[in-house]
Amino acid sequence: MSNLGRVCIVPYKPNELSTGTKGILCNNEVIGIVEIDHQTFSGHYCVTGDNYKDIMEEDMYLAGLYIKTEDKKLHLLIESDWDIAINKINQDVKYKLLDPAFEDGGYHKLCVKCGAAFGGSKTQQLCMTCSSNIRFAKLQRKRPRIKSLNV
Ligand SMILES: [Zn+2]
Repeated sequence: MSNLGRVCIVPYKPNELSTGTKGILCNNEVIGIVEIDHQTFSGHYCVTGDNYKDIMEEDMYLAGLYIKTEDKKLHLLIESDWDIAINKINQDVKYKLLDPAFEDGGYHKLCVKCGAAFGGSKTQQLCMTCSSNIRFAKLQRKRPRIKSLNV
């Protein structure tokens, strides 16, 4: 059994934006994948990507690429699938959910989502509770089908 979901873009909330955030740059249409390079003194974000390198204009926003499941849940797509998924917005695709990832370690960290203190690896950004609530989606690639010769 495979899961069917719809690729959709959801604008990031202001508190989800920071330097290094990757997103889909949109105005009334999809412009491309960009990353926030820095914030100007006036508070505007400067983004960089293949299709656009400049300050975000008033009518632009950054969005994440999500899979909306049949029960209307949103799962962020892993970034390595964005190149493909950006051409499939509003289309139904097969996907699978990845297991939550938590990297243990001896670093004292603060969860970027709930602010709780936890011990984890140097790159771990979410506490164990928050990371178990977030599951990323991955596109399921079509495998070449080999025709059976048995009749
Ligand atoms: Zn947390």
